[in-house]
Amino acid sequence: MIKLFNRLILFFIPHLPLFFVRFVAGRYVAGESCEEAFEVVRKLNAKGFMATIDILGEHTRTKHTAFMITQKYCELFDAIKRRKLDCNISVKPSHIGLDIGEQILRENLLKLVGKAAESGNFLRIDMENSKTTDITLKLADECLAKYDSVGTVLQAYLFRTEDDLKERVGPKLNVRLCKGIYRESPDIAIQDRHEINKNYLKVLKYLFDHEGYVGIATHDLVLLKDCLHLIRDLKVPSDRFEFQVLYGVPMSGWLEKLIKMKYKVRVYVPFGPEWYAYSIRRLQENPNIVGYIFNNLFRRA
Ligand SMILES: Cc1cc2nc3c(=O)[nH]c(=O)nc-3n(C[C@H](O)[C@H](O)[C@H](O)COP(=O)(O)OP(=O)(O)OC[C@H]3O[C@@H](n4cnc5c(N)ncnc54)[C@H](O)[C@@H]3O)c2cc1C
Repeated sequence: MIKLFNRLILFFIPHLPLFFVRFVAGRYVAGESCEEAFEVVRKLNAKGFMATIDILGEHTRTKHTAFMITQKYCELFDAIKRRKLDCNISVKPSHIGLDIGEQILRENLLKLVGKAAESGNFLRIDMENSKTTDITLKLADECLAKYDSVGTVLQAYLFRTEDDLKERVGPKLNVRLCKGIYRESPDIAIQDRHEINKNYLKVLKYLFDHEGYVGIATHDLVLLKDCLHLIRDLKVPSDRFEFQVLYGVPMSGWLEKLIKMKYKVRVYVPFGPEWYAYSIRRLQENPNIVGYIFNNLFRRA
C-alpha cells in the first residue's frame, strides 16, 4: 500500500510546477552554483559540522564531458582551500567516466586524488549500483596505493561487503559505511531492514576490531544508537570514525547531540544545475525515498 502511494506521488512529480519541486528539493540540494554550496558549507562549519560536497550528475557519456567535470572538481579543491572550509569532495564514478571506460575513469580519479593530496584534502569515491562495485573498489585500491587522500564506500546490504572489508582493513583504509541506496537482487543483497542493520553493525565491529577509519553514514536513529553503544563498549577512540548524514534529512536533534558529545559529523552537500534530472532518476530508481521526503516534511531537524 505504502509502495503504491510512493509510486503515485512519483507519477505526479513531473506534472508539478517546477517552483514547488524546487521548494521541496531545496531542502536536500544546496543550489545550482558552487557559491551556493560554499555558503551552505560555511554555515555548517560555523555550527561545528564538517562537509563533503558533490556535483549532482551521473552517467556521463563523452570523454570530453567527463574531463570537464573532473576539471570542475579540481577547481572545487582549490576554492575549498582558498576559503579555508572544512570540506572534502565526494564523486560518483559514473559522473567522471565509468560508463565510457575503465581507463578514462582511472585517469580522472588519479587526477582528482592527486589534486586532493596537493590541496591537503580528501576524495570520497561514492559507490553506485552493484554492477560497479568491482571496478570502483579496484580503482579505489589503485588510487590508495599512490596516495592516502582517498577512500570509497561499502554498502551493508551487499553480501560481499564483509569480505570486501576484510581484504582491505589496514591503517590507510578510510571507508564510508552506508546501507546502500540502489535496488539490488536478493541473490546478492540482504532485503530485510533488520538484517541489513545487523550486517552494518557486524561490518562496523570488524573494522573497529582491526585498523582503519570509518564514516558512519546513516539517518536511522535505531542504528545510530546501536553504533554509539558499540563505540562505547569497544572504547573506540574518536579519531577512528566520524558520523555522516545527507544535507536536509531531519535527525530529531541528534546531530547537535553528537557534536556536544565531541564526535565529528560530516554533512553531504549535493549541488549543481543537474539537480532536477538527477533527483527524478534517483526517485524513480528507489520510490521509497518519495515516502521519506513526504514524511520529512512533517519532522523536525
Ligand atoms: C553521507 C551519506 C552518503 C551516502 N553515500 C552513499 C553511496 O555512496 N552509495 C549508496 O549506495 N548509498 C549512499 N548513501 C545512502 C545510504 O546507502 C542509504 O540508502 C540511506 O542513507 C538510507 O539509509 P539510512 O541508513 O539513512 O536508514 P533508513 O532507515 O533507510 O532511513 C532512516 C530515515 O532517514 C531518512 N532518509 C534516509 N534517506 C533519505 C533520503 N535519501 N532522502 C530523505 N530522507 C532520507 C528518512 O526519514 C528515513 O526514515 C549515503 C548516505 C549518507 C548518509
